[in-house]
Amino acid sequence: MAADRQLDQYLKSVIDPMLKEDGDKVLLLSCIDLRFPNRIIDTMDGLGYRGKYYHLAMAGASHAARHNAEWTATFEQHLDFAVAEGHVKGVIILDHMDCKAYELYENVPPNSEEERLRHIEVASSVAIAVVERHPTLAGYVHAYLMPKELTEEIAHA
Ligand SMILES: [Zn+2]
Repeated sequence: MAADRQLDQYLKSVIDPMLKEDGDKVLLLSCIDLRFPNRIIDTMDGLGYRGKYYHLAMAGASHAARHNAEWTATFEQHLDFAVAEGHVKGVIILDHMDCKAYELYENVPPNSEEERLRHIEVASSVAIAVVERHPTLAGYVHAYLMPKELTEEIAHA
């Protein structure tokens, strides 16, 4: 799929301010969902960000950061490593609608208004927790909710 224009504009608006100096990087937290990696990478490449970001994929994206003690520790240790060793100056949480992790673990109907509101609630709490853990990231932690990918078969005869 071609790079997404809306995602493209959003990412540029939040990432450019994070990359003030040569060597600055950002950390993306996305879901492992197989519908999204190409779209994310195509969009990041299209913006010229290849080599300027780390991509951590965990089921549910924001949800993963609070799934249980093990997942939370995994997220936090990757975040700590990326900030300490990888010159990460900002974090972007890329949630998506119709997320199986949200359906199963946050108990919301797929692709519903309830799911959308839960993403806002969870991603907000994770963003605040990231800043509490790494105060230098204050103002540079953002979350974006991608719509459901429309790649379903719509007819079959
Ligand atoms: Zn997902």
